Parts: sequence; C-alpha cells; structure tokens
Amino acid sequence: MRQHILLHADASNFRTAAEQTELWYEGQDINISDVPYLAALLKESFSDWVAESIGLPLLGQAAIFLVSTDEHIVDRAGRSSAEDDSELAALAAAAASLAANRPSAGSHASHMAAAVPIMRRTDDRLPFAVLVAAAPHVDESLSAQLLSATYHLRSCFYRRFERMFITDIMRQQRLSETEALHRAALFAAAKRLYDGIDVGSVLSEMMQSLSSLYPESRIRLYLSQDHVNGDTRVKSLQFNHPSGDFVVKSFLEAKPGIRQHDSGSVDVVIPMAGKQAVYGVLRLLVRQEQWDEADLPALVLLADTAGSAFEHAKLYEQSNLLISELRLINELTKRLSQSLKLKDVFHYTTSELLRIYNADCCCLLNYDKEQECFIVMSSSLPSFENEHFSIEYGFTGLVYRSQEAVIISDYWQSNSVPSRWMDETGSRSLIAAPILAGSEVAGVILVGHRSPHYFSYDNYKLLQVLSSHIGLAMSNASLHAEVRRMVITDHLTGLSARHYLNDRIVRKQRKDRCGSLIVVDIDKFKEVNDSFGHLVGDRILVQVSEKIRSVIRDSDIAARWGGEEMAVYLPEIRKDQAYRIAERIRIKVESETSPSVTVSCGISEWTFEDDKISVESLFYRADMALYQAKHGGRNCITIG
Ligand code: GH3
Ligand code: MG
Ligand code: MG
Repeated sequence: MRQHILLHADASNFRTAAEQTELWYEGQDINISDVPYLAALLKESFSDWVAESIGLPLLGQAAIFLVSTDEHIVDRAGRSSAEDDSELAALAAAAASLAANRPSAGSHASHMAAAVPIMRRTDDRLPFAVLVAAAPHVDESLSAQLLSATYHLRSCFYRRFERMFITDIMRQQRLSETEALHRAALFAAAKRLYDGIDVGSVLSEMMQSLSSLYPESRIRLYLSQDHVNGDTRVKSLQFNHPSGDFVVKSFLEAKPGIRQHDSGSVDVVIPMAGKQAVYGVLRLLVRQEQWDEADLPALVLLADTAGSAFEHAKLYEQSNLLISELRLINELTKRLSQSLKLKDVFHYTTSELLRIYNADCCCLLNYDKEQECFIVMSSSLPSFENEHFSIEYGFTGLVYRSQEAVIISDYWQSNSVPSRWMDETGSRSLIAAPILAGSEVAGVILVGHRSPHYFSYDNYKLLQVLSSHIGLAMSNASLHAEVRRMVITDHLTGLSARHYLNDRIVRKQRKDRCGSLIVVDIDKFKEVNDSFGHLVGDRILVQVSEKIRSVIRDSDIAARWGGEEMAVYLPEIRKDQAYRIAERIRIKVESETSPSVTVSCGISEWTFEDDKISVESLFYRADMALYQAKHGGRNCITIG
C-alpha cells in the first residue's frame, strides 16, 4: 500500500501581492452570496490554469484534480488512464477530503496522491478547494510542482473572482446610471411637458423623451380625439383596429397593460389620462432584453404628466378657439346687421366665409318658395350666380332634406351625391349648412376646398353657428325690404306711395336733364261711387292703375297721388312725348275699364335750363293743367 502524501501548505506561502496592493477589490473575498457561483468560478479558473500550464512536466506525470470542499470533482486534467479513472477520482476525492479537513494520508493499489488545499486570501485556514495530483509515484519534485501549481491556480481563481466582482459592480452601476438617467429624463420631460402650451409640442415632447429613453423601441400614440400632427407615430384610436382590443381595453379601463409577443418583444400600453378624461394610449414595443418591468411606474407617470399637460393645452386651445370664434361671430353679426340689403348680406357672407376658413370657394343659395328651387345668390365662382337648382339636387338637396349641416372629407372618395358645384370648383372637401328660418330651410351655405380632409370638426361646428347668424341677418334684411316695400307702396293699387314718388323725383332732378309729370284724375268719380258703391269704385281704381302701368316703362314711376288721383313721372321725357303717353292712358281707360270711366290729365315738365327746379312747382303746374282739363270738359289732356 502506498501512502498518499499530504503537502501541508503554509498560509504564509499564499500571501501574495494582493495584500500589498492598493486596489480595494483585491481585498475582497468569497462570501456567502458568492457560493452559487463558486463551482462555475472554480471550473473557469481551472481551465485558465490548464491553458497557462501547457507543457509543464506535472501534467505529463500526474492526473490533476480540482476538488471542491464538499468533495466534488470540479474538473480534471493531465495524465489519464482510462481503466482506473473512476478509482483515481475516488482517490482524489478522498485525498482532498483529508487535505481540507485534517492532515491525513491514503493510498490506492497502483497510485499515490498528493493534495494541496487552496486557501482563501483573507483567511489562510479556510480552503475553498483542493488540488490533487495522482500518479503511480509521488516524489518530492512532483509535490513541489503541485504546490506551485496550487499558487498559480489560486491566482487564476482570484483573477476570475475579481472579474466577476467588478463585472457585477459595473452592472450595478450601469443599472443605477440607467435609473438615474430615466429619472432625470422623466423629470426633464415632465417639466417640458408642462411648459408646452400647444398640444402639438406636448405630444412631440413626450414622443421625443420616450425615443431617447427606449432608443430601439417602436413608439405609438393613439389619440381618441381629432388632432392634426405631423408625427406619423401619432395615430387616431381605432375602435375596430385588429390589435385595437389591447389598446382600446387600456383606454376604456384606464389601466396599463403588458403582453409578450412570440417574436420576443414586449408590448406595453399605458393610458394617457388627464383629470377629466383619458385622451389616448401610449404604446411601446420593446425588445424583451431591453424591457424592465420596474420602468412601468415611470412610464405611467410620464403618460399621466403628458395627459394632464395635453388636457391643459387642449383646454387652452379650446378657450382660445372659443374666444376667436366669439370674436368672429361678433364681428360678422355686427357687420351683417349693418347691411340691410339682402344682396349685401349674401356677398359679405361669401367673402367672409372664404376668409375665415381660408377656403377655395363659397356659395350661398336661397330657397325660392314660388319656384320651389334654390337660386345662387352669391358665389365665389361667378358663373354660378343666379343659377337655379332643384331642391333634390346635390349637397344643397341633401342639406335641404336633412335640415342638417354636412361635412365631406373627400368628395372623390364618397361619390354618393353628385355635385356640379364640387366638380366645377374642383373641391374635395366640403362643409355645408342650412340657413334655417324657423323650421324651414331658407337657404344653404357651401364652403369648399381643393384639398381632401381640409375641414376639421371644429370648422364644421363653427359653420353651424355662423349659419344661424347669417340666417338672422338674411331674415332681418328681407323683413326690412318687405317693410320698406310696404311703406313705399300703396296698398290698394300696388302703385308707389306719394312720398316715394316725391323722393325719386328729387333724386332724378339732381342727375337728369329733364322729366315730365302726368297727373291723372278719374272723372266724376264721386258719381261712380254713388251709383256702384265704394267696392266697385275701388276696383275701378285698381283697373285704372293697371292701365297706367301697362303703358309706361319700368324706369317710369307711377304713384297714387291721393284719392282717385294718380301721378306718373317720366324721367328724361319732354312734355310732347308725355302727352302721347297720357293720351294712351286716357284711351285705354276709356275703352278698357268696366264700368267704364274716363280720366283727365294735366302735364308739367322741367328741364335743367329752368331757373328753379322743384317737385312742388312740378306738381303745382301739373295740377293747374289738370284743373284746366276738367274745365275743358274732362276726358282730355292739358299741358301746363
Ligand atoms: P271730378 O274729378 O270729375 O271733378 O269729379 P269727382 O267726383 O271725381 O271729384 P271729387 O274730388 O269731388 O270726388 C272724388 C271722389 O273720389 C270722392 C271720394 O268718394 C272718391 N274717392 C277718393 N278716394 C277713393 C277711394 O279710395 N275709393 C273709392 N271708392 N272712392 C274714392
Ligand atoms: Mg280728384
Ligand atoms: Mg275726380
């Protein structure tokens, strides 16, 4: 039986440069938390040692085993003889056990073993492994080689150990750096978000912060509200989107969600909530290895900050919009109420709508009750002015039937309603609104633009508000026109009223060179009244008025002068021609009235050469002439 030799390793032999160095981590040693990594570390350092010891006689002479303190063979190297390998291993384990616990010796039929415990660098009584050499013969030289191999292996081990230690520390440091970076970025982002006033900058700020925090991720923001943003990552929240369920669920429940994809990425959704509502969902597609669930609270905070900032910005934007809308409505109504002429209202409205919306074209149609059709009252495309459209046709027809405003994002895509106006103006976007008078559509406003998706929902709502003001202005203007017509028109005969005739003559005398006045008086009208009654008398008055109207031109003005006297002013007409017109009136009345009556006429004229031109003198002279006609036997004409 051969002895196996236990080489007693003196701890002082192991004191190495470690204790003389300043490097703090070199003073570190294995502690309880390193135990799980110990086996791997030993294996790695053993293979380092083997690699660095190639060519050493020791490896040729003996089988070298590294044995852990719990008697497991970590690894082996050097000489081997296949048939008794397992026995050698057992020998090594036994030798190691002895070496680790107490000095002892053992033997094997054909081999001897030498074992050296490898001590910790801070405690020279505590081995962490044992290096064993098994050989047919163990002599002094082999023992010395084994001892020096042990030193070597030990420094291989601590090299590995320090590397692990430093790697771990660096990993920790990187982690805390990342966390610090996250926090700093988050804080900066939140601060910037609150500084942002317009919605666009709030959103792009958030997206930018996220892409710097997660450089390789895919970031999307789904907004539940209309928002025009140049950023392609900002989408509108589609409630029927294929992957929508996941996003929509987060939106509806106002809760973040995480799911794993087969592709190895993590899909994170976070609601963007303000105080009043959830405005959208932030979605992050991150690679598995980049995702740390501990980031979620920070992300939720960022999304919430963005949500509140978005809410503030949106409210600010809305109140600004409201203020500018109110200002606009105020200005429009003020201006509209100043213009009492319908034509002015129409033209002002179209030009204002073009300006307000920066639109390409605008058109205002009025419903004509008598003809039961729409007539274009004002159009930015002049060829449409005064065009008539059936109440069924085009968008006007649609608005007329529904009595509601319409918004068309792209006419080319939604060809359901044919529209000549859209075709000829080349418009793709349209907002149209009814002008309501009570419960009836009195008109329709069309505003168009050549670009698709040009008008926003706010534009559409504003048009609805504006149209009611335009409607009011229109009915004001038409009421005014009606009242004025009533004031200047004689109710019974439909001829102009006396004061209107006076005014017109005064104005004509300022510009014209001459003019004539015929005063027409029904002969013996008192008798007509007496014999037929006043109603018949009234009818005769109407008949005589019609006869007068039938012989004069549109530019002439016929008025009821009073009682059964009528007057006709003929601009730019001299008395001779006026006589011929009066004669035609006289003959027509005599032959075409029933019961038949006759009239007498007095004529006067003025020319720019007269010394004094006045309406009073014109009437006075016509009246005098009439008086003469009466005295001349009636049914005749006298020129004054
Ligand atoms: P002449 O002019 O030929 O001298 O005789 P006359 O009978 O027509 O003249 P007079 O001025 O005496 O009478 C005018 C009459 O016209 C008096 C009034 O009854 C009648 N008259 C005035 N206005 C109206 C009216 O609106 N309707 C009816 N039916 N009669 C009227
Ligand atoms: Mg009279
Ligand atoms: Mg008379």
